[in-house]
Amino acid sequence: MNLIIFGAPGSGKGTQSEQLIQRYGLHHISTGDLLRSHIANGTELGKVANVFISKGNLIPDELMLDILENELDLHPEVKGVIFDGFPRTIPQAEALNKILEKRGTKIHAVIGLEVPEAELTDRLIKRGAISGRSDDNAETIAKRLEVYHRQTAPLKEFYTSRGSYHAIKGSGSVDEIFASITQVVDRIE
Ligand code: ATP
Ligand code: MG
Repeated sequence: MNLIIFGAPGSGKGTQSEQLIQRYGLHHISTGDLLRSHIANGTELGKVANVFISKGNLIPDELMLDILENELDLHPEVKGVIFDGFPRTIPQAEALNKILEKRGTKIHAVIGLEVPEAELTDRLIKRGAISGRSDDNAETIAKRLEVYHRQTAPLKEFYTSRGSYHAIKGSGSVDEIFASITQVVDRIE
C-alpha cells in the first residue's frame, strides 16, 4: 500500500507520517527531510537545493524526481511507502504514476490534511522558533504558502478526479487527526 500525505506547509504531514509508518509498517519518504540531510552534509546537491529552499521555492522537478527514484531504488524491499512532501507539482504527480507503474504498483490513497490558512502561518512561525529551519521565517513562510497555492494545490483536483483524494480535517489534536486518517486507510487495505 502506497500513500501520499498531502497538504500545505505546516499542515502536519511529518507528524502524522510518524504514526502512520508505525501502524501500517510503511517506509517514510519525506523529500524535505532528504533535502535537509543533503544540506546538513554539505553535498553538492545540498548546496543547489539550499538556494531554492531558503527562498521558499520548489526544487526543479527533474532534480526532485532523480532524488525520489534513487530513494526508491535504495529500498526495494519495502511493503509500501508514505510519500510526504511529494508530489508537489502536476509533472511530479504524473512522473510518480509512471515510476510506480514501472514497479508494478500504484498510489492507493492521498490523505489531504486541510488546515485553515491562519493556523498554518501560526504553526510555522512557532516551529521556526525551535526548528532552526532557514525557511521557517515570516517572509519565507508567506512565499511557501503562495507557492503551495499556485503549484501544489492543483494536485487536489488531480487526485480527486482519479478517485484517490481523501480530505481530512487537519486541525484538532494530533491523535484526533490520526484517528480520522486511520478510518480512511483501514478501508483501503
Ligand atoms: P510540512 O511542514 O507539512 O512538513 P513543509 O512544506 O514545511 O511541510 P518540507 O516538505 O519539508 O516542508 O519541504 C521544505 C522545502 O523543500 C520546500 O519548501 C521545497 O523547497 C523543498 N521541497 C520538498 N519537497 C519538494 C518537492 N517534492 N518538490 C520540490 N521541492 C521540494
Ligand atoms: Mg515535513
